[in-house]
Amino acid sequence: MTLRNPAPLAKTNAQLAFPFFQGRSTALLFALLLTLAPRMMALEPSWTKPFPPHRIAGNLYYVGSEDLASYLIVTPKGNILINSNLASSTPLIRKSIEALGFKFSDTRMLLISHAHYDHCGGSARVKRLTGARYYVMDADVPVVESGGKADFQYGADPTMQFPSTKVDRVLHDGDTVQLGGVVLTAHKTAGHTRGTTTWTMDEVEGGRTLHVVIVGSPNVNPGYKLVGNKAYPQIAADYKHGFQVLKSLPCDIFLGAHGSYYNMVQKYARMKNGERGVFIDPEGYESYIADREQAFETELARQSAPNR
Ligand SMILES: [Zn+2]
Repeated sequence: MTLRNPAPLAKTNAQLAFPFFQGRSTALLFALLLTLAPRMMALEPSWTKPFPPHRIAGNLYYVGSEDLASYLIVTPKGNILINSNLASSTPLIRKSIEALGFKFSDTRMLLISHAHYDHCGGSARVKRLTGARYYVMDADVPVVESGGKADFQYGADPTMQFPSTKVDRVLHDGDTVQLGGVVLTAHKTAGHTRGTTTWTMDEVEGGRTLHVVIVGSPNVNPGYKLVGNKAYPQIAADYKHGFQVLKSLPCDIFLGAHGSYYNMVQKYARMKNGERGVFIDPEGYESYIADREQAFETELARQSAPNR
C-alpha cells in the first residue's frame, strides 16, 4: 500500500490499523493503541487458525495451527506431544488429534521446542487434561515453572507470560526420551532461549530410515542483545554452538517449531496434489540453517561494530 500524501508516521500507522478512527479523538485512539499494541504484535492470525492435521511419516503427525507447529508421535504405549502452543491452543490441538482418529487422553509425554508462550503456553492445561509427564531442557525449566517470568528477555513483559507449569523430568543436552519403542534425542541449541531444544528421531517409511529434525528456533528476536547481555552473557556463544549442532545433524525430514521454517503450508498443498515424500527436504534444511546463521552473524557484526 502506498500513500499519496504521507502523513506523519504515527498517524499513518494508526490510520492503517484503525481506519474507522479517522478524524475522531486522537487521545482516545492512542489510549486504545497503547492497550492493544503489545497483544496485537504478539498474536499472528496464523497462530490460531486451524490447519488440517496430517501424517508426516510413519507414526509422526502434524496437529498444530497454520503456523504454530505441534507434533504427535503415536506409540502402542501412548502418545508423545511436542509443543502445547498458546494457552488457548489446547482445543485446536485436541480436535486435530481426534480428527486423525487418536485420543487426546492417550497423551503420555509432553515435550517443547523452547520456553516461549507460543510453544509452551498450553502445557499446564495439557498436563491437567491428560496427565502427561512434562520433560523440559534444564535451562528452560525456570522459565517454564515461573510462567515466563525467568525469561532473560521478556521476563518483565506480562503479554509474554503464560500459566506456570511443573516439570516432571529435567533434560540435559543429548538425553533421550523413550516411549513404546520410539526414541527421541534432545539437542540443546540455545540462544533463542537458554534451553532451546532441537528434537531428532528416526522414522521408517517404505523400508527406508529417515532422519527427522524438529528445529527448536535459530532466530535472533528483535531487541536481543548479542553483545554485553548482562542477563545472558553467553548468548552469542550459545547461538554459535547451536549452529554447529544444527549443521552436524543428518536430516531427511525437515520440521520446526513454526510451520513457516519448513514451508509447511506449501508442502501440505503439494501432498494434497498427490506428490509423495514432500517432507523429505535435506536441501531445504541446509539452506534454512545457512540463512539463519547468516542472519545471526550479520546481527552480531552490527552489534559488535565500534561507534554504532
Ligand atoms: Zn520463541
